[in-house]
Amino acid sequence: MASLTSSVVLATLGEDRPPKIGPGMAEAMIEFQSVTKRYQGGQPAVDNLTMSIDKGAITVLVGPSGCGKTTSLRMINRMVEPSSGTITVAGKDVSTVPAAQLRRSMGYVMQSSGLLPHRSVLDNIATVPRLNGVSKGDARKRAAELLDVVGLASVLGKRYPSQLSGGQQQRVGVARALAADPPVLLMDEPFSAVDPVVRDELQQELLRLQRELAKTIVFVTHDIDEATVLGDKVAVFAVGGKLAQYAAPEEILRAPANDFVASFVGRDRGFRHLAFDVADSVRLHPVTMVGQTEGQNAGRRTGEWALVVDDESRPLGWSSPRDGAGLIPGGSLFHKGDTLRRALDSALSSPSGLGVAVDDDGRVAGVLKAPEVLALIEEVRRHREDAT
Ligand code: ADP
Ligand code: MG
Repeated sequence: MASLTSSVVLATLGEDRPPKIGPGMAEAMIEFQSVTKRYQGGQPAVDNLTMSIDKGAITVLVGPSGCGKTTSLRMINRMVEPSSGTITVAGKDVSTVPAAQLRRSMGYVMQSSGLLPHRSVLDNIATVPRLNGVSKGDARKRAAELLDVVGLASVLGKRYPSQLSGGQQQRVGVARALAADPPVLLMDEPFSAVDPVVRDELQQELLRLQRELAKTIVFVTHDIDEATVLGDKVAVFAVGGKLAQYAAPEEILRAPANDFVASFVGRDRGFRHLAFDVADSVRLHPVTMVGQTEGQNAGRRTGEWALVVDDESRPLGWSSPRDGAGLIPGGSLFHKGDTLRRALDSALSSPSGLGVAVDDDGRVAGVLKAPEVLALIEEVRRHREDAT
């Protein structure tokens, strides 16, 4: 996506540094180090928070009302200052970045869309680029592109916010947050005020967008279902601003860290998620991929199964670590959104035991492992039994 101001923003955030961690491990984008916030010296709203937020992933802060989610979020862009501790973004201590500059370098979406009522939708979206010195014409052009990105018809650009539905207003809020192409998006209960059907739509839309944009998103919600649908990782907060558990959603559903998390997660909620959002539940792993020419012996050479792909990264077959040269045809493919049954079929039908997942263009998106799919199926079965 074309960016008007990203180079400025990235320079601000120190994004030009080399990654700190090697391949295969998530790189941290935002780090809380022993962060405590007391308002007016009272009980901590956030209590000694240490957590590392992955770059290019959706991290959800979830918990009951008053547990410090909003406070934590707002300390990232200095809308709230910590009482003690340090927060870094892309390795840079945020307290050293002027607050106004920091805020413009991160998209922010709230529960009430926060749109300016007397400005057209297009001008609302163009707000931050205009503040960053982008010309009116360019900013409007970009705003019109973003309407399309968030799934709104271009005719809506001329309307005023009050002439849109709640769901449409939230989409405009997301478009506005994306306008300066910030690497980080902060979202505070952005979908909590719309009805459940629209909410599901907005969640799916955000996941679709994220597959294209790969932003670092910190998303606050009180709704564990929303957290497990959206989160690559989920941080469960307990009253008193304490981090109770921080893990992948599957892990939180399967093995709640304590009684608080268990009761917050609830029994049947995990089942709902696993039953209807299969694509988000199945974990994809990276796989060694080789081109056709060098591919025939790759397995023998490397001692592990290698996936042979064509020039467009579409799977052709497997190269075995044991057998001689030659391509072994690979089993059924798993497409995002397929059922658990299909996921298992892809893994069990593959000579390597690794099911090949492909994107809409048929390109390899990763591989899935039979034991993990089986564990998910077992979990669905258990929840179903529990529910009856
Ligand atoms: P959440 O977003 O999880 O509902 P908040 O971060 O908004 O929680 O609030 C955490 C705690 O801090 C609550 O007890 C709340 O009353 C208190 N709090 C939040 N903002 C302020 C403020 N500006 N002044 C005083 N107390 C606040
Ligand atoms: Mg809040």
